[in-house]
Amino acid sequence: MLKIATMSGSLAFIDEPEFDELRMKLRGQLYRSGDHGYDEARVIFNGMFDRRPALIARCRGAADVMDVVQFARRHQLLMAVRGGGHSVAGNSMCDDGLVIDLSQMNSVIVDRKRRIACVQAGATWADVDRETQAFSLATPGGIVSHTGVSGLTLGGGIGWLRNKYGLSCDNLISAEVVTADGAVLTASSNENADLFWALRGGGGNFGVVTSFEFTLHPVGPAVAAVFSMYPMASTRNVLKQWREWVKIAPEEVTSEVAAWTAPAARSLPPSIHEKDVVIVSGVYAGNPEEGMQVLQPLREFGEPLGEIAGAIPYRIVQSAFDPFFPNTGELISYWKSLFLEDLRDEAIEVFAGCAENRSSHSTMVLVMHIGGAVGRVRPDETAYPIRNASFVTNFMGSWRNAAETPRHIAWVREAWNRLLPFSTGAGYLNFLGHEERDVERLVRSTFGSNYNRLVEIKAKYDPANLFRLNQNIKSTQS
Ligand SMILES: Cc1cc2nc3c(=O)[nH]c(=O)nc-3n(C[C@H](O)[C@H](O)[C@H](O)COP(=O)(O)OP(=O)(O)OC[C@H]3O[C@@H](n4cnc5c(N)ncnc54)[C@H](O)[C@@H]3O)c2cc1C
Repeated sequence: MLKIATMSGSLAFIDEPEFDELRMKLRGQLYRSGDHGYDEARVIFNGMFDRRPALIARCRGAADVMDVVQFARRHQLLMAVRGGGHSVAGNSMCDDGLVIDLSQMNSVIVDRKRRIACVQAGATWADVDRETQAFSLATPGGIVSHTGVSGLTLGGGIGWLRNKYGLSCDNLISAEVVTADGAVLTASSNENADLFWALRGGGGNFGVVTSFEFTLHPVGPAVAAVFSMYPMASTRNVLKQWREWVKIAPEEVTSEVAAWTAPAARSLPPSIHEKDVVIVSGVYAGNPEEGMQVLQPLREFGEPLGEIAGAIPYRIVQSAFDPFFPNTGELISYWKSLFLEDLRDEAIEVFAGCAENRSSHSTMVLVMHIGGAVGRVRPDETAYPIRNASFVTNFMGSWRNAAETPRHIAWVREAWNRLLPFSTGAGYLNFLGHEERDVERLVRSTFGSNYNRLVEIKAKYDPANLFRLNQNIKSTQS
């Protein structure tokens, strides 16, 4: 007899023949506690979560996902969906329930003539870039290569190509979705257009996406990129110059500033190893030579301690931040972000003060510039609502010792509260860590005037809220 948690919090008891029937149907694996592979399958990026699901269904294709969703629905099971496993809030793993694990569904097929990539939902951005860069093509992803395509795209997707080509969700052409009734739908601008609207920013609320089609753009094989690393003591000065520069930079440029303690990683210049630095980054989506000229001012905000600059293979740029975020499940993370319309001196003061007083060396304080193509999409054109803010910050609390967790969470909350008066009040939901309270209010206020439409679409596609382990939107019926 399999004991498994239901949505109501009680346990369901499923007899072995029914469990065996599901196992026989699947091309993929079904793991229970004690099975070989179970412990490996329950690891996610954020080491805060050591969760033990009753069942992990490692699906191999849409047919597997359909059967597992129908099984979950029949028994009203508590269910999590895992794409790349990078949910900072830990939503892709649950205790005692069922996990739909898409990690083995990671094929990427490039139609280079039509400039379209068909990407299965368990792919990471490294998988996508590997296949698309074979043809010097790319679609906007994230800045860490092992992040999953699924969660990142469904929540927006802020990466190195954003100012030129928009968010990841803006480049979505269509998606195949298994909805709560276990059926497969295509969502695109002319099929189930309401669902397509909701998937572009509304997160995992509406079904399990099994594959995505993305528009591709000519990018690479090398792009101009600059990572100038200044002493952290110069953060205020650097940020003031950067703020003025991004106002006039062409939209080929995407730029951000990160304050952090550099580890002794081989990919980083030895001159910054173990040093507190503020890293000014810029990537140019266009001709590399032209790009190096445009990006030159980023190298002149003071005397850099170290630098990586030049025409760099796009795939290397896409993994440049990987050393900061080891994907081993050991790093414990609690993040909280805010959008800012502008970067006032007061905000810079808070940012610099927080950078200097981080509670952990692994914690990064990040501010990303957003403009160009992102702002050309109307706030109600997709579910992703924040189109007019020029900056998004992220206080990325990271540490290794679980005993210190309360101290580091308190630091992130304090930093966030200090910046709040200079922000729009909304945060990027994909960066949100685990919150015990107030999530519903935060989700509602972030979606703003898009929220009511999301509630209607939720009622149509998932009235019982089967897909609830996410930045949840409840239908009026759930
Ligand atoms: C190291 C790191 C770097 C990051 N960098 C960036 C960045 O540069 N830009 C950016 O925008 N964000 C970034 N993020 C945030 C990231 O977008 C979110 O954490 C996102 O949820 C990760 O997607 P995933 O598929 O890996 O996560 P998962 O944990 O697998 O999924 C997260 C949630 O998405 C939903 N979901 C996942 N797959 C599916 C699916 N196929 N169908 C339906 N719902 C699904 C589920 O609700 C799930 O709980 C980063 C996060 C980390 C940890």
